[in-house]
Formats: sequence, C-alpha cells, structure tokens
Amino acid sequence: MSAPPVIVVGGGLAGITAALGLADAGREVTLLEARPRLGGRATSGRRRGQPVDTGVHVVLRCYEHYLALLDRLGVTPLIALQDRLDIEVLLPRGERAHLTRSHRGPPPLHLLAALLRYDALPGPARLSALRAAAALRHLDPDDPAVDLDAFGTWLRRHGQDPSTTEGLWGLVTTAALNLAPDEASLALAARVFRTGLLDRVDAGDIGIPTVPLSLLHEAPPRSALLAAGARVRLGSKVVRIERRARGLVVAVRDRHQQVTELPAEAVVLAVPHDHAAQLVPAGAVDDPAGWQALGHSPIVNVHVVFDRAVLPVPFAAVPGSAVQWVFDRTAASGRAAGGEQYLVSSVSAADDALHERTEDLVRVHLAELARHLPGLEHAHVLEAFVTREPHATFRQRPGTGRLRPGPTTHWPDLALAGAWTVPGWPDTLEAAVRSGRAAAARLLSVPMTATEHGDAGVSAPARAQMEVTS
Ligand SMILES: Cc1cc2nc3c(=O)[nH]c(=O)nc-3n(C[C@H](O)[C@H](O)[C@H](O)COP(=O)(O)OP(=O)(O)OC[C@H]3O[C@@H](n4cnc5c(N)ncnc54)[C@H](O)[C@@H]3O)c2cc1C
Repeated sequence: MSAPPVIVVGGGLAGITAALGLADAGREVTLLEARPRLGGRATSGRRRGQPVDTGVHVVLRCYEHYLALLDRLGVTPLIALQDRLDIEVLLPRGERAHLTRSHRGPPPLHLLAALLRYDALPGPARLSALRAAAALRHLDPDDPAVDLDAFGTWLRRHGQDPSTTEGLWGLVTTAALNLAPDEASLALAARVFRTGLLDRVDAGDIGIPTVPLSLLHEAPPRSALLAAGARVRLGSKVVRIERRARGLVVAVRDRHQQVTELPAEAVVLAVPHDHAAQLVPAGAVDDPAGWQALGHSPIVNVHVVFDRAVLPVPFAAVPGSAVQWVFDRTAASGRAAGGEQYLVSSVSAADDALHERTEDLVRVHLAELARHLPGLEHAHVLEAFVTREPHATFRQRPGTGRLRPGPTTHWPDLALAGAWTVPGWPDTLEAAVRSGRAAAARLLSVPMTATEHGDAGVSAPARAQMEVTS
C-alpha cells in the first residue's frame, strides 16, 4: 500500500507554494481548497461577465520569492514592473508631485533627490523627512521591542508633523500595512521602508498586474501543480484535523456536503489565522486562541468606468483624500477597445468605508477625483460599484509579532503557512510565498520515519534536532 500524501490545506499563495515545493521534492501531495478556485485573497470574481479582482495587488521588485514563483509559473511578463520607482502624486486643482528615485547612488542616496524635490511638502518638512528616513534605517524590524511601538508615535518623536505624515509616510504605510500610521506596528513600518525603499536602490520599483489576478494565481498554479504530480481538490473544505494511532487524518467536506476522512503523511495548514485557530489539533501549538488577537483590517475598492480617459498615468497616489490610490485597470480588465477608462480607487484601513452605502462612497470618490483631475467633470460615468474585503489582512498593530508562529508546531508532521505566520513581514504576497517555502522546508527536514508513525510524543531534544530555521 502506498504512503498517504502530504495534505496542504488552503489554496492561496502560501498553500500553492508549499504544495509545489513538496511535489518538486518528490512527495505525494494533495491540496485541498474550500472555494471553487485557487488564489485565496489574491484572485478575481466576475461581475456581469467581467473579471473583478479582490483588490488591485501592487508588487515590489523586492518581492523576490513571489517573483520567483511567477517565474516558475511562466507568468512574470504579465506584471508591468517599473524601470525605476516613479509615483505620480495628485494634488488638488490638477497640481502634481512626483516621487521618483535616481538611477544611481548608493542607498539611501537614491531617494535623496526624490525627497528634496517632493513638491507636496514644504521645504523644511522635506529636510525633516530626510532626517527621519535616516533614523528609520537604524531600526531593526526583527527587534521585538521595536514591534511594541506605533509608527505614528515614532514619527511624532522624530519631528514629523501631521501633514508630513499624511503626505508622505502615511501614503506608503497605510497601503502597505492596511492601517493608519498611528495604529501600525513600528517594526512592520521599518520593514516596509528598509526592505522596500531604503536598503536597496531598486527594491521599491512598483509592479502592477496587467491581467486579472485569476490569470496569475488560478490556472497557472493549477497546471504547475498537476505537472509536478500533485492532486488539487477544489470545493473541499477541511473541517477537522486529528491524530490517530496510525498518523494524521484530515476530514474534508465536499460540495455535496459529504464528509470523508483522508489519511495524511503530514499536513501543511495554510489558511488564515482565524481558520487555523479552529483547525489546528489540540496539543500541536501552545495557544491557538491567541491568534484571534491578530484581528482583521478591511480594504474597500470603488470602481468607476468613465466614457473617456481621465487619468493619464497607470496609477497615482492621492494623499489627504478618501481616494488614497487610484489605478487604471482598463486594459487589465479587457475594456480598452471602446475608449472608456476603468478606474479603481483602493481604500486601505477602510473601517469606516466598509459600512458606508455604495452610493455615498461613489459620490465622495467622484467628487474627490474631480477635485484632483481637471476635465473629469466632462466625462460620463458608465458604471460604478464597490467591492468590500472585510478580512483583507490581519491588523498589523504593535505587539502582533509575538503572535505569529512561523512554520513550526510541536509536531514534526504538521507545519503552518500563510502570510500571517511570518514574523517581521507585512501580510503580503511575498510573505505568503515565503511562508509556503518555509512550511515545505520544515516538513522536508523531518525524517520520513518520524512522520510515518505520526509520533506526536517525539522528545524535545529530538524535536530540536529536527527544527529548521527558514
Ligand atoms: C483587497 C486586497 C488587496 C491587497 N493588496 C495587496 C497588495 O497590493 N500587495 C500585496 O502584496 N498583498 C496584498 N494583499 C494581501 C495578499 O492578498 C495576501 O497577503 C495573500 O494573498 C495571502 O495569501 P495566503 O495564502 O496567506 O492566504 P489566503 O489568500 O487567505 O489563502 C488561504 C486559503 O485557504 C482557504 N481555506 C480557508 N479555510 C479552509 C478550509 N477549512 N479548508 C480548505 N481551504 C480553506 C481559503 O479559501 C483561501 O483560499 C491584499 C489583499 C486584499 C484582500
């Protein structure tokens, strides 16, 4: 009788990566995904026959593991990656500012000119921002003490006034951490600025998918998994994971509400933290209930189709406005032919917007776009709608670092994955892929015999020997 497969629970980027890593290493793998499609939070639904993404997903050049996954899937050309960081910043009455890095100069000097020329702030505020950026470079994002502070508090301590926070720092962190600076972890903000902007010249170059997310994260990973010999079962919701005398057993409910039990050589649990807290077997980790404290932070997208082009750039930041960031998704959604333009405003930290009525949100966003884009008043709105993701990310507050477990559990045949598990990294595509790699590495480092017997009672020293740091 052949050995049971390694079962990966969850078909988001974390589960896909873990399953590919294990299948590539020659393990039998079955991936179980509750929904009818792969991709998790980073995919597309359909509205009136048109694809609509869960949200515009911005990629940075420093997302090295995520970009390596796209390479593996053969879809890297579907990301439009800037040659160099260039953010168009829309100001009221049609004025513009730019945040553009230099081609040369050792980091962080590549940003010096960008900050000094950033017209959205008065001169003294730019100099003060430079001093704060220099101080930020000395923060260690992996230091638990740094994680206890809020970014907004730190900015005030470093002389940043509210308009500099709103016009510069908040522009980046509210989108990257899905929380306003006053609520966001200083350690995670330091990771965003250091890894994403300050430590490497090209790290912050922005990439935007040129196609719906489903064309990156659904069919290509499914084909790659099947080619690697893995099985993919969609519409398969895991309702229980248990240890029995002969090893792990995963109970799965299919679309007909039928529950079957599948024996597993090992399990990767690659689901969001609240689902993981319910599914992780008793005794496998110390305090799964504590994961609930990670909470959720919403993202709301306001979609407007105009009868003509009103935004002349692929995307823009709109500081001090309900719009926050606006993206031209015309070509990506296949609407380019008729001359119309499809804009999506991405509202992060959207606790208020989440509960606002669609017509109110659309009215406010149209007024804000008109305030920043002269000429928009002549355009006609062909279609407007709102999408809401209440659980877009976990709430990346101070003190959350200690709640993120990494891949390791007390059991050598059970690993955790998911963007939320990676200490020190924001809840992003890159963290999801990193977590999947770490979970696969964790299971691959465990000798087969330990997993065949499902030996939960493995001694602490033996367990320590099996631990890997990834
Ligand atoms: C609107 C929005 C905008 C975003 N913007 C960006 C961005 O610009 N850049 C960026 O890097 N990141 C962004 N993110 C975050 C990014 O999408 C996530 O960090 C990443 O997709 C998380 O992947 P994951 O695999 O960890 O989790 P998920 O994608 O949540 O995958 C978990 C999977 O597990 C499945 N599952 C749950 N329970 C079970 C069960 N019992 N049985 C079987 N399957 C189960 C779920 O259906 C899901 O498919 C955004 C997210 C949203 C929602």
